[in-house]
Amino acid sequence: MAWDVVIVGAGSSGCALAGRLSEDPHRRVLLLEAGAAVTDPAAFPADVRDVASLAAADPDGPHTWDVDVGLVPGRRTRVGRGRLLGGSSAVNGANHLRATRADLDSWPGWSYEATLPYYVRGERDLDVRGPLHGDAGPVPVVRPAGELRAAVTERFLDAAARVGVPAEPDKNGDQPPGAGLVPANVRRGVRVNAAMAYVLPHLARPNLTVRGDTTVARVLLDGDRAVGVEGVDGRRIEAGEVVLSTGSVCTPQLLALSGIGPPDALRAAGLPVHHECPGVGRGYSDHPSVYLAFPDATGDPPVHPEAPGAQAAVHLDAGDDPAGDLEILLFARPFAPGGPCHLMCALQAPESRGAVVLDGLDPTGTPRLEHRYLASGHDRARMREVVRRAGDLLVAGGLALDPARGLGARELDAWITAHLTTSAHLCGTARLGTADDPGAVVDPELRVHGLRGLRVVDTSVLPAVPRRGPAATALMLGERAADLVAGARAGGDPVT
Ligand SMILES: Cc1cc2nc3c(=O)[nH]c(=O)nc-3n(C[C@H](O)[C@H](O)[C@H](O)COP(=O)(O)OP(=O)(O)OC[C@H]3O[C@@H](n4cnc5c(N)ncnc54)[C@H](O)[C@@H]3O)c2cc1C
Repeated sequence: MAWDVVIVGAGSSGCALAGRLSEDPHRRVLLLEAGAAVTDPAAFPADVRDVASLAAADPDGPHTWDVDVGLVPGRRTRVGRGRLLGGSSAVNGANHLRATRADLDSWPGWSYEATLPYYVRGERDLDVRGPLHGDAGPVPVVRPAGELRAAVTERFLDAAARVGVPAEPDKNGDQPPGAGLVPANVRRGVRVNAAMAYVLPHLARPNLTVRGDTTVARVLLDGDRAVGVEGVDGRRIEAGEVVLSTGSVCTPQLLALSGIGPPDALRAAGLPVHHECPGVGRGYSDHPSVYLAFPDATGDPPVHPEAPGAQAAVHLDAGDDPAGDLEILLFARPFAPGGPCHLMCALQAPESRGAVVLDGLDPTGTPRLEHRYLASGHDRARMREVVRRAGDLLVAGGLALDPARGLGARELDAWITAHLTTSAHLCGTARLGTADDPGAVVDPELRVHGLRGLRVVDTSVLPAVPRRGPAATALMLGERAADLVAGARAGGDPVT
């Protein structure tokens, strides 16, 4: 057998996993990616490198999977997810925020204490020192300072203080939620994606092989053991262990195409049933959001060309959720030249759950998603709250009039539905849980329940979308999974 581990998908988690696993020269690691691969950070296209732009995430562009998303009945949108070395970390906003303690402590077998060493190991925080931060990891983390901080960012933070939001100086510091600068994985204007951090520096390792333009069509099973994968070109690759890191859209699809999933849905889709797994693609969550636009009145001097757009955020503990279930994210740079700036208002701990449509699947495309946002009264009330609080900030900062002013609950619900979009933070399409949880797809060590030799290591496994963006957590998953695969643990609680 040529490979000890084959990792399918070179995104956030897959790159972190491949980089760490191949540190052992005796372990032969193969990393497969459907999209293009490069061998040098400078070879990424300009729009992929430029942290000031979100152009690389265009669902019509060359670097993405084009995902068809139902938001609420009657409203659909399209989301671009990364389809290149680095995955979604190569096209995302580069906000590097850890999950909250409340999120991590709620995942069976995981906890804040167990995951902290892995967040720390992955980062090189250039601003904050101390036991909660790493200074030697592969991912540089910085907050906008000096000329990189936009004038409107100061006004936003002042406005937050004026309306009584407490300061949260270190958003990765296990502090109560509040207003503060957003940490980003960026260096001199370059979005440092997971491949730049974890894979490209190690291409000389003889035990690490990276193949781009290789789309996997299914996992090969021999009884209850995964023995390899098959590409869309029919080529088979054998491996001692198979890891799916294809992300929360493609992982449930690949499981289903391999005959692993809800038997009723597989049969209805004409797929074989090799292993019944009712939770595949079901019960996921994502952050619903709306944007409030305001004129870029502070754009003199203009935002520095190397500065990230999302500069500061307010996370609100409005009484119900001490970890902060509401996010107001300041985009200090207009999305288009001459356009307005925006506050993105998002619900970070939604009750509503979505489903992946496991019908008509094609490994060279993506499945349809039905988010079913705002299906619960709780979610609608919390969305109204975050929009109202963002309106208060706009007024307090002298930035704009409050668009929700004077609207009653019904009118505001209608306004929110008309403007609703998604933060593209999908998680939980193959969630982790203990064997007595019928919806759990993987165990706390990320092994598919009931099968041997098959793990899922990506944002699919998170039981719910964390209260902060999942990018930093996707890297942490790869870091921790490397120790799980190796049977070793870098401190923290053992997985139960
Ligand atoms: C536009 C956008 C902006 C975002 N901004 C932020 C942000 O600022 N902060 C934040 O915290 N989060 C953000 N996110 C979310 C975050 O980037 C993702 O949650 C995270 O990167 C997901 O990591 P992953 O490893 O689960 O999957 P991905 O990084 O998506 O990796 C999956 C990889 O698998 C590959 N693949 C899929 N199917 C196959 C197959 N069959 N064969 C071979 N390869 C395959 C894909 O091409 C891809 O490279 C954003 C997401 C998007 C889409």
